[in-house]
Amino acid sequence: MKYISTRNKNIQSDGIHAVLSGMAPDGGLFLPESFDDIAFDWEKAVKAGSTTEIAEAVIGSILPDFEDMHGLVKKAYSGRFETEELTPLVGVGERYVLELFKGPTSAFKDVALSMLPQLMQAAKRQTGDESRTMILTATSGDTGKAALEGFHDVPGVGIIVFFPYGGVSEVQRLQMVTQAGGNVHVCAIRGNFDDAQTAVKKVFELGANDAGFKADLAAAKTNLSSANSINIGRLAPQLTYYFKAYADLLKQGRIKLGDKVDFSVPTGNFGDILAGYFAKVLGLPIGKLICASNANNVLTDFLRTGVYNKRRPFIKTTSPSMDILVSSNLERMLYLAGGGDTAAVAGWMEDLKTKGEYRVSGKALENLRDTYYAAYCDDTETASTIAKVFKSHNYVCDTHTAVAWNAAEKYAAEAGGNTPMVVLSTASPYKFPLAVLSAIEGKEPACDEFAAMEKISALSGTKIPAGLAGLREKEILHKDVIEKDEITDYVLSKIKG
Ligand SMILES: *Cc1c(COP(=O)(O)O)cnc(C)c1O
Repeated sequence: MKYISTRNKNIQSDGIHAVLSGMAPDGGLFLPESFDDIAFDWEKAVKAGSTTEIAEAVIGSILPDFEDMHGLVKKAYSGRFETEELTPLVGVGERYVLELFKGPTSAFKDVALSMLPQLMQAAKRQTGDESRTMILTATSGDTGKAALEGFHDVPGVGIIVFFPYGGVSEVQRLQMVTQAGGNVHVCAIRGNFDDAQTAVKKVFELGANDAGFKADLAAAKTNLSSANSINIGRLAPQLTYYFKAYADLLKQGRIKLGDKVDFSVPTGNFGDILAGYFAKVLGLPIGKLICASNANNVLTDFLRTGVYNKRRPFIKTTSPSMDILVSSNLERMLYLAGGGDTAAVAGWMEDLKTKGEYRVSGKALENLRDTYYAAYCDDTETASTIAKVFKSHNYVCDTHTAVAWNAAEKYAAEAGGNTPMVVLSTASPYKFPLAVLSAIEGKEPACDEFAAMEKISALSGTKIPAGLAGLREKEILHKDVIEKDEITDYVLSKIKG
């Protein structure tokens, strides 16, 4: 199966090299040339029912060049999640919450980042690639830790994580700066997530096109790759839980095969919700995909007006993993909504770079509006949603999940209907204990994160995830802080060092 760049159909790759390189050399993102070529029987998959069987079938069909997908999936997930079903679906009032945070770092990123190291190692085995792969990751909080968890001490691989200084929750920060491993580097940058992501993308472009940088990489026998959702190997595993949720609804007798289901997705870089769209293209009967944003509502504005305008204040919110103004995977959706017009995509991305905005109209915008409903809420509404869900249903959700719940409510008020709604829960409430506790108690907690975790545990009757409870005792191993324009030099020093 062929992969092409969203900005130029002549730039092609197979799935294995798309995973290894992370991103196309022209700055575009890899996508299957045609979804019609993907041999995936969704009805069979949802009838099979077990999460790992679904994962094997769906990842195997998107990345058919990989050998032994059964073994790779088994290695990725066996014994690593709190439950063998990996991503349980629970009824909360009239909606369903898809709990994606049962992995080792308590965020949905674990679903994909448990699998990506397996894919990366398999790709190197199959191609006989003996160079070192250096994973560069910009994180808004959760990708960093999940990638470190997946890649630490993996032979032949190094990893550098950049996170925004002061831009992640204290628990998220501690998770990253206490990470052990001989091949890991964690560095704070003075700037926000967009600054980090833009700088990392620039390093990839230098690695692909700059003679001096290429020579440095070659001398160190190193190739660059990405653990962000710009890597197709990150997206493919994320399709699994859309099918799994549908399988659960079938099993519980809530729907019949073929009935539509809506999904509300707390969205930042547009990776999670794009996986939902892929699932729909592969046959899953999805009604609407609800694109839920926090006060950084650039996607809400875009999906409503067709104008994507990043020139706006970057707002720090209580849902920091969605504090993003430049949403990378939207580029893939633009390609798909625009009928594969790579010149148009290249033009929009150029406008974004030079003017800070672009405008999509006509058929492409119509397609986007048919697929998505968009809504956002600020921190006050996020908090009141957490409080309401707890009071009404005795269920404690995290800030990101609350944003998605809130968007689902707005959609229900506008659209009505009785299509089942699945709200994706992307993080454990224990990752954001102060924000969650203050929402429930209605006042600023006079305690630290760990005491707040204890209180949430007492209120909800759920257990603090072991990986988070243990953070208090862990030694801080990473203290680097750099300016955002020092990222390239930092990467070079780690590659040479
Ligand atoms: C990463 C993340 C998101 C956003 O997911 P995207 O794929 O970037 O849209 C939402 N919630 C949490 C908790 C996250 O970690």
